[in-house]
Order: sequence, then C-alpha cells, then structure tokens
Amino acid sequence: MLDRLSQRSAPWDMIVIGGGATGVGVAIDAASRGFEVLLLEAQDFGKGTSSRSTKLIHGGVRYLEQGNISLVMEALKERGLLRQNAPHLVHDLAFIVPNYSWWEAPFYGIGMKVYDLLAGKYGFGKSRILSAEETIEKLPNLQTEGLRGGVIYYDGQFDDTRLLIHMAMTAADHGATLLNYAPVTEITKDEEGYANGVVLKDEESGQTFNAAARVVINATGIFADRIRHMTDPEAKKMIAPSQGIHLVFERSFLRADSAIMVPKTSDGRVLFAIPWHNHTVVGTTDTPIQEASYEPLPFEEEIEFILDTAAQFLSRPPTRKDILSVYVGIRPLVKSEGDGGEKTSTLSRDHTIHIDSAGLITIVGGKWTTYRYMAEDCVNHAITLGTLEDKPCVTRSLKLHGYHETSEKFGDLWVYGSDAAGVRAVAASDHDLMEPMHPSLTYCEAEVIWAARHEMARTVEDILSRRTRALFLNAQAAIELAPKVAEVIARELGQSKAWAASQAAEFQALAQHYLVT
Ligand SMILES: Cc1cc2nc3c(=O)[nH]c(=O)nc-3n(C[C@H](O)[C@H](O)[C@H](O)COP(=O)(O)OP(=O)(O)OC[C@H]3O[C@@H](n4cnc5c(N)ncnc54)[C@H](O)[C@@H]3O)c2cc1C
Repeated sequence: MLDRLSQRSAPWDMIVIGGGATGVGVAIDAASRGFEVLLLEAQDFGKGTSSRSTKLIHGGVRYLEQGNISLVMEALKERGLLRQNAPHLVHDLAFIVPNYSWWEAPFYGIGMKVYDLLAGKYGFGKSRILSAEETIEKLPNLQTEGLRGGVIYYDGQFDDTRLLIHMAMTAADHGATLLNYAPVTEITKDEEGYANGVVLKDEESGQTFNAAARVVINATGIFADRIRHMTDPEAKKMIAPSQGIHLVFERSFLRADSAIMVPKTSDGRVLFAIPWHNHTVVGTTDTPIQEASYEPLPFEEEIEFILDTAAQFLSRPPTRKDILSVYVGIRPLVKSEGDGGEKTSTLSRDHTIHIDSAGLITIVGGKWTTYRYMAEDCVNHAITLGTLEDKPCVTRSLKLHGYHETSEKFGDLWVYGSDAAGVRAVAASDHDLMEPMHPSLTYCEAEVIWAARHEMARTVEDILSRRTRALFLNAQAAIELAPKVAEVIARELGQSKAWAASQAAEFQALAQHYLVT
C-alpha cells in the first residue's frame, strides 16, 4: 500500500480521511464504481467509534418513538441489504420487550408491527405478543416478579470491527489503497484556495508524503471539526460529542438466544442486554461530553446506572465484580442549527454532508447500519464537486469480502466467512496453532498470524481489540494474552524482542481502562 502511495504522481480521484465505518464505506463505494481512491487512517481501522457500538444492525426502535420514520425506513432497508451482502457477519437476533404493566403489550405490540411494516420486503422475522410463560421460556434469567408477558421482534446483530476489516478488504479487492497509522496533518490548496490534496505522515517510518486529489473527503467522525479547521480555522463546530458505555459479563447472566430490550429506562433511554460472542453485553448510555478522545473513560454514574437497570430485569443481578470489560464510545452527533445545548439523546441520528468554501466534503453522523447509504450519498456529491465521470453506485448488491452463506460450519472461525479456510491453512503444518490461547477465550495463534499477514494488524492492540475482540470481551484475559500475542506479531513483522516487550506493556497499560475495580 505504501509503495502504491509513493509511486503515484497523478492525483487520486478521491482521498478519504478516516478509516471507520463511514470512511471505509466511502472507499468501497468509490472504488467499486471504478474511481481511484486513497484512504488514510490516523491510527488503526476502527480505533474510533466504529469498534465501540452496541453491535446492532437495526432500524432503531427508539427513532420510531421519536417519529423519525424516514430514518427508520432507510435503516431497515440497509439492514436487509447488509444481511444479504455479508450473511457471514450479520445475523437475525430475537429481541424481547418484557412487559410489567397492562398497557405495555398492546403499546409495544403495535409499535413493533409498525416496525415490521416499515421494513417491507426487507423484513426479518415477524413480531408478536408473548404470554408470561412464553417470555420466561425464551428468557429464563428474566426477573419474573410482576411479569405480564412480552413482545418479541427481530433485528440484526454483527461484530463491528470484523465487518470493518472485511469492508476494508472489499475496498482493497476493488483497487482502493488504504493505510492505517497514516494521519493527515494538513490539507493542501491550489492557487484559488480549493482543497487539492493532503499531507500525511507514515507513523512507522516518520516519513511524510504529499498526495494530490480531485476531491478530499473528511470522514473522521468525532474528530471532523479538527479536519475542517485545516481548511477553515474559523469553521463553527458541527459535532456535539456524546459518550455511551457498555458493560460485558459472562454469558450465564443471559442464558438465552434472545436479547432483552428495555424501551424506557429511568433516564428515558433504550437499554439492551444482548448475547454476543458467548458473553452478555449490556448498554448503553448517552452522556454529553466536551472533547473527543480515542480512549474515553466511563463515568461512575454510567456504570451504576447500567448495573441498577440490569438488576431490575435480570433474576441474578450482575455486580461490579462480574464486569469483565467496560468499553466506551463517542457518538459523532451533529449539532442542530443554532443549537442551544439540547439533550444529546434527542439530536438527529441522520447523517450530514457539508461542503466548505475550499471544497472539502465532510460526512458525519448517521449510524453503523446506514454506512452504505451514507457512502452512496457522499460519492454522488464528490462526483459533482470534482466533475468526475458519473458512474453508477453498485454497492446495493455488492458482496462483501468473506461472503459466505453457511459460515457457522467453520466453528469458532465463523466470523471470517470464506477466509476461514485461509486461517486454517496457516495452521496446516502445526495444529497447535488452532488451540485457544487462553482458557476464557476461543482465539488461537493462527488468527494472530493471519491478522499480521493479511489484515494489516501492526500492534498488539490491533490484534486484541479489533482483529479479535479479546479486550472488549474480557479485559483481564486480554492483559494475560498480551505477551504471547506480542511475541507472535513481532516474529511476523520482523520486530525485535524489545519491541515485543514494549508492545505488551503498552497494551497492558491501555487495557487497565477496560477493567472496573
Ligand atoms: C455507544 C455507541 C453505540 C452505538 N451502537 C450502534 C449500533 O448498535 N448500531 C449502529 O448502527 N450504530 C451504532 N452506533 C453509531 C456508530 O457506531 C457510528 O455512527 C459509526 O461508528 C461512526 O463511524 P465513523 O466512521 O463516522 O467514525 P469513527 O469510527 O470514529 O472513524 C473516524 C476515524 O477517523 C480517524 N481520524 C481522525 N483524525 C484523522 C486524521 N487526521 N487523519 C486520518 N484519520 C483520522 C480516526 O482515527 C477514526 O478511526 C453507536 C455509537 C456509539 C457511540
């Protein structure tokens, strides 16, 4: 990828800044239309918000309640397209809304029927009202005192960074050039003041590069205002950051294949308890914050709020010492015009495309679920702005890298889809490489080797946070795995023992933030 960058003198059609769901989505769209694209990510793909979601591909029942019908319909359509294009990673999941008051069954029952209707031909399973007995049968760990019944509906679930890595590979399969650890430090302008490229730094070598482009696209999520200030230091802030946390517990707290959806918690938000990678994830919160950062910390009140709410619905209430990991993400919410500091949970989840006077396109907001639609919209704008050839979008039916219809047959390697055979091949001459590296997690050495060779993993953190999800599932286990992973990745990348030791130590320091004491 670096060779492609350094050998290129002609301008790229598009340079995309930011390697989260939004930027990588744009790179896929543009590359698959036949444009020449360079994507630059300051850290690792998904290091920002895109690794820290609730892991749902959904229409958003909450937006239905807020009356944002067009957003719900669009998201439900995208949910259907994503399951069609990445069936190895996007699965149906049953959600149950437990009812403790007489009015809840008809109220949520009708709401979910509307949700089904809005999905139209992109629908998942049909929603229905459950008796108390049926609800308990499906959710044996539910708090049964006062339970009247439930409403079951269906949505999608995924592994956010695994999908992102496969999306980056899809973009690369279509000819895009993508670099991680390559922050953009400057946007260059022509004599008329129009953005015509970027200056970037290769963090590993320290070398800087100039790259020219017909169009520059800012897809840096919560960091978007920093990039906008590169072309217009006076630009008013667009982003209202709001953080959300998740707590991860053992699977036994939710001994079911269905998730629990609490439509109105004491702070008026939705809360989910979902089965994910053989663990239970509970979240999330919505707390306005001042500054965007890469490793935001949970607030004590957020942890207490999730534990208290979970205790109201689970027969065995989880406590602090049951928390295996806490992860925090920041929503790139877009401020409304003349924003007067309103509550962030009511700010729009629609995406926004903004073009400044230097011609820099900024795309922010939206959801993981709608990344494809956002990308299509963004590339359409880029074509007009850059007077590029008008080539049609092809991503509605574009299969993503790893596409496989029955990937469950690959056992613990199911998330790799069609790449599972490649991961297995790494261990062809040494079957020990397929053995789990830690008693609490399924990840094996072959996956570390595969990630270093084929998925651009450069650090221990890349492997334990985003190529596998060890840190998000069990922070203590990830800390224990770090020296082993450092040794393997150092060998793969031709690095020294001292490098491996400092990598392990760096990761272990970072992982402390995912532990709750
Ligand atoms: C708690 C929480 C739960 C969520 N749950 C869901 C969910 O279940 N389903 C759903 O659909 N959506 C969900 N979302 C929303 C979704 O996660 C986000 O909308 C999406 O991930 C945003 O992606 P992005 O690419 O815009 O931003 P990011 O993922 O933050 O990517 C921006 C990237 O830009 C890079 N960058 C910054 N500066 C530079 C620079 N100078 N040069 C190069 N690169 C740079 C950053 O390193 C970063 O990787 C959730 C969000 C939160 C916070």
